[in-house]
Amino acid sequence: MENHIERRSSCRRQRVVLFPMPFQGHINPMLQLANILYSKGFSITVIHTNFNSSYKSNYPHFTFRPVLDNDPKDNNLAKLASKGIGDLLLGIMLLNQCGADSLHRELEQMFVASKQQHEPIVCLITDALWYFTQSVADSLKLPRIVLRTSSLFCVNVYASIPLLDDQGYFNQADSVFYEENIMSPDDTSNFKKTKSSKPVLNLEEQVPEIPLLKVKDIIKMRIKGQEDPTGKLLANMLKQTKASSGVIWNSFTELEEPELKKILQYFPVPCFLIGPFHKCFPASSSSLFEPDRSSMSWLDHQSPSSVLYISFGSTAQLEEQQFLEVVHGLADSKQPFLWVMRPGFIKGLEGTEPLPKWFLDLVGERGRIVKWAPQQEVLAHKAIGAFWTHNGWNSTLESICEGVPMICSPFWGDQPLDARYVSDVLKIGIYLENGWAREEIASAIRRVMVEEERDEIKKRTKCLKEKVNSSLSKGGSSYESLETLIGYISSF
Ligand code: UDP
Repeated sequence: MENHIERRSSCRRQRVVLFPMPFQGHINPMLQLANILYSKGFSITVIHTNFNSSYKSNYPHFTFRPVLDNDPKDNNLAKLASKGIGDLLLGIMLLNQCGADSLHRELEQMFVASKQQHEPIVCLITDALWYFTQSVADSLKLPRIVLRTSSLFCVNVYASIPLLDDQGYFNQADSVFYEENIMSPDDTSNFKKTKSSKPVLNLEEQVPEIPLLKVKDIIKMRIKGQEDPTGKLLANMLKQTKASSGVIWNSFTELEEPELKKILQYFPVPCFLIGPFHKCFPASSSSLFEPDRSSMSWLDHQSPSSVLYISFGSTAQLEEQQFLEVVHGLADSKQPFLWVMRPGFIKGLEGTEPLPKWFLDLVGERGRIVKWAPQQEVLAHKAIGAFWTHNGWNSTLESICEGVPMICSPFWGDQPLDARYVSDVLKIGIYLENGWAREEIASAIRRVMVEEERDEIKKRTKCLKEKVNSSLSKGGSSYESLETLIGYISSF
């Protein structure tokens, strides 16, 4: 690809400016998209917050410009991040409220430079959550294209939040109740919605407004209604996405065909499903953590399809009690495992202090623990039999692309929605939907790794993997959509 990139650079005419949201799951797809556009002949400028921008040195062919918190000594966002993802999200909302002037100034300076270089800036591509960038782009008469880094299904559910709220699904007390309890199915039967005048539902019941979902899937999103800060953030995101010049999705038509119809009705702008991006350019170069490559040589010594890979992404945190259930479930399953334990992934702790000595002995026999893994390579390794995931959208796509069945343990946001889609629509994973009980964990691991059920799941994952490959090949849906996108951007 290097030579390919070099060859094209001499004839660049147009520049695209991209602005990722500073979280791993958002940085990866934006930088992959930047590489795709670069390989198609565009010059690339990435504007970024000072916070979470350590990946820059891996992209010498891009221009980088800091905005919003652009003083390298300003570590306000980092401080918010260390308090938890909730505080960090509030910081991001604040930047959405007060970032317009700073971005406007920065873009004006870029216009001057691009004129001198005879390389016009043709459009701004920003993460959907940077909704404030729409008014800035409008004021500069610059087309803004949105990158949405989640599934289409998730956005369709977000679009229904006002309706679901009116029906009383987001009762605040209920959400708190759900978060604070590791529930068994029995616990959920008395769960009542109090805000609505509708008859009482329990958590296991199907949501009539979105039949793919159960009531508990909505509660697990941890949104407390349309007036809640997250609800407002999502409403703004949807409104400003509708006002944009187009939406790029890291998904492919064959994966979410029924959802695409709804999306096309909802957004009156061109939509481009050109994913999965990481099949064109891997995520490793935009990693904020150093991957431990020793896991690869360990995998080389394991039998085919024998290892369970466990990772809950870059922000999810387990309670200590839940963590110990995982430890026991894993031990009882008797399966080999590779487990990513990010520093800080047990709530309130930096390290893995609660790990019992007997479990460390078990790790010596049939397991491996790393702080961060080269995930895409791990999933592509023949020793991997299943992926126990939090169903972040990138992880979900990466698993699908390698034909690896999943065990789904979502935490919040879009994750419970994607978990439901993976288990009930695609039927390529087992949803651990009742919390973190060790018996259920051990049973789910055995179902997906060794029992008869595994063959059917494996067949479906293989079939989906083939669909990914054909969608990215010449004539396939993602391939053609990318060609259309390139033509569209070039026409600005
Ligand atoms: N990832 C990785 N190594 C790890 C864990 C995660 O490289 O040990 C990458 C993973 O491949 C994915 C991203 O981090 O591209 C996580 O994004 P995702 O949307 O799955 O979850 P999030 O971190 O946003 O919750």
